[in-house]
Amino acid sequence: MSAPGSLRIVGLGPGGDAWITPEASQFIANATDLAGYAPSLERLPHKQGQRRHQSGNGDELERARHALRLAGDGRHVALVSGGDPGIFAMAAAVFEAIDEGEPGWRDIDVAVSPGITAMQAAAARIGAPLGHDFCAISLSDNLKPWHLVEKRLALAASADFVIALYNPASAARPDRIHDAFALLRSLKLASTPVVFARAVGREDEHISIVTLAGADPGLADMSTLIIVGSSETRLIPRVGATPFVYTPRGIKVPR
Ligand code: SAH
Repeated sequence: MSAPGSLRIVGLGPGGDAWITPEASQFIANATDLAGYAPSLERLPHKQGQRRHQSGNGDELERARHALRLAGDGRHVALVSGGDPGIFAMAAAVFEAIDEGEPGWRDIDVAVSPGITAMQAAAARIGAPLGHDFCAISLSDNLKPWHLVEKRLALAASADFVIALYNPASAARPDRIHDAFALLRSLKLASTPVVFARAVGREDEHISIVTLAGADPGLADMSTLIIVGSSETRLIPRVGATPFVYTPRGIKVPR
């Protein structure tokens, strides 16, 4: 029997070394094996003797099982994800694999190391749009039916949440984002602030602040996080600078 291994499920943040936590760096440095989706792994410098298990965007459950098998064989594995590993990412795939997999996997030393998620990074760039109640919805219908996405968008709009949209567009389903915006436009004020935050923390970062009526959903790609304001979300215009966007901490009720 091999010595016990371990699995660390590590978030790298949205981009940039400054947004990688010291704990994440430590888990990566201590790992005998790094696993993850290729673009995430490419962000990490090569270390001598450390093995790399690179995978494509496909089967996340298989990627999770591979990491568990390595840990079961006594390896110390860091499985890396962009952003936070628990938000639309690998951590849930690992626990799903443990839940459905070999009983022995429950004994593996597993820990999750949080990261800054895309919506936090995007929010921080422009002000405080997540200052009051908000929700996060993935627009990808790979893992759920589209009618459920529409139902959640409609209910989030009617509950007046600020809405963070992950996975807004994919090459396979280019029309979904247009459908989502048509739905939101039918339910929310035309003047609602909308933020397209692309590649936050990376060299090609680009952020635009528009209104729901003026938004061009075609601008969103797979590296874009969209924040759709609530009826309370507002802009602070500035001369010669982009406006601040924030959602007040509370709703003013008449006394
Ligand atoms: N675990 C990641 C999310 C993975 S889902 C996290 O916590 O951030 C992938 C989606 O996240 C992308 O389609 C995009 O909507 C968003 N995203 C990830 N990194 C981003 C970045 N640097 N800038 C803007 N959006 C990003």
